Amino acid sequence: MSRRPVDYLLENPRARRASGWFGASKNREISFERIVTAGFALALVGLAAISLVAFRSIEKLANEAGQVKQTQEALTRLSALLSTMTDAETGQRGFTITGDERFLEPYRTALTNYAIELRELRRLTADNPARQRQLDALAPLLEARLATSTMMIDLRRTQGFEAARRETATASGKEAQDEIRRRVAEMFATEEGLLRQREAQTAVAARASQTVIIGGSGLAIAVVALALLRLRHDIAARWRVEIQLRKLNEELSVARDRAEAADRLKSAFLATMSHELRTPLNSIIGFTGIILRGLAGPLNAEQRKQLGMVQGSARHLLALINDVLDISKIEAGELKVIIAPFDARAVIGRVVDALRPMAEAKRLALRAEVAPEIGEMVSDVRRVEQILLNLLNNAVKFTERGEVTLRAAVEDGRLRVSVADTGIGIEPQDVEDIFRPFQQVDAGLTRAHEGTGLGLAISRRLAGLLRGEIHAASEWGKGSTFTVTLPLRAAEGKKDADAIRSVQGP
Ligand code: ADP
Repeated sequence: MSRRPVDYLLENPRARRASGWFGASKNREISFERIVTAGFALALVGLAAISLVAFRSIEKLANEAGQVKQTQEALTRLSALLSTMTDAETGQRGFTITGDERFLEPYRTALTNYAIELRELRRLTADNPARQRQLDALAPLLEARLATSTMMIDLRRTQGFEAARRETATASGKEAQDEIRRRVAEMFATEEGLLRQREAQTAVAARASQTVIIGGSGLAIAVVALALLRLRHDIAARWRVEIQLRKLNEELSVARDRAEAADRLKSAFLATMSHELRTPLNSIIGFTGIILRGLAGPLNAEQRKQLGMVQGSARHLLALINDVLDISKIEAGELKVIIAPFDARAVIGRVVDALRPMAEAKRLALRAEVAPEIGEMVSDVRRVEQILLNLLNNAVKFTERGEVTLRAAVEDGRLRVSVADTGIGIEPQDVEDIFRPFQQVDAGLTRAHEGTGLGLAISRRLAGLLRGEIHAASEWGKGSTFTVTLPLRAAEGKKDADAIRSVQGP
């Protein structure tokens, strides 16, 4: 899957910071989330508090309203009690005058009802001892008044109208009734006072509930509105960043397309160059070879020397072109390895044979110690040979006396080839540098050894492509050992092959 340039920015905080556009993005995210969460949490807590206060207020309101109702009921009962007593007295008088039993109906009702009314009044005033005391004082008066009525009725029945009239004239009954009225009026006044007080309290409680509910809801709405406003602001900011991000993405895509186009141009240029340069160079090398072998006629010593120099330079140029091509392809990820089985022993033999004339010319002992288990290997034969050739070529090239030894063995399913020489060696600080392109220890104009400075860089990258590695150990002035390890089976299955192809050199 192709990766967008913006993915890189999103995954790399450093690159994001460098781009400048997303520097504040993380902080913004934090504040954005915090503000939204805090806003809603605050609103929630506020609403919970409001609900609690509102619940309490309404409870109080209901309580006050209940008490008002209770007082109103007490007032009704008091009126009912007073009219019961008045009706009873009127009825008793009617009977006294007429002797008609029908007048006694209210009296009989009063006899049963006054106690009920008194009980109800006691219940309704149970929370107030002063009112209870008023009732306590009223109860015997009522009883006494009813007892007087009973006595008067009996008198009328047994001794007739005159006796009853005389008794009435004592006016004790009237005084008792007036006392009852006075007490009830007192109680009425108390209850009415209480009613006014309770109604006022209810009104206060209602106003408090109203204030709490309206104020609290308003506050919660304000907090939520503020959080939403901030949210809107942040969303707008995010949109702006998103737009910038898209713009940057487009710019990066354009830049990438341009770079890819330039890369394709470079590859095409290199391919053309390689063809255009290699063809004439091969001709030069081939024809100078023919002339040098005397096939075109005899040559004198000077001509031979000059032509030899031409051929040497042409060979050097061809090697350089090939190396530059190789490294460019590897760097561009275009160099594909071809994995197939081959005889590793034969490859090692070929490499040693190729370098033997050069070693002999320098009077160096060239030894090869190849372990017997070395046989078939599955890798890229051409690239394995190229690596070994380069290491052995360097060993011979940088050794003036002594010997060069190639040792090959199998270790943990890997081919391990070390090339040791008794040559000039490498200083410790240069050991890793020589694997970088164009790095030569002796790079001056007067250097004694030929070379492009690309051999080791290419070899290490090729080894990487084949899932292997190369290391160097050396002692300045005493010699060096280069060791390459490569898996005997470089690729098993398509997946591994792909992995190998995608590996690039360090
Ligand atoms: P080249 O040999 O073409 O210069 P290489 O990449 O093969 O390029 O080697 C880079 C440098 O590493 C050489 O120029 C040399 O200085 C050093 N080098 C490589 N092999 C040896 C060796 N066996 N002994 C001493 N120096 C070496």
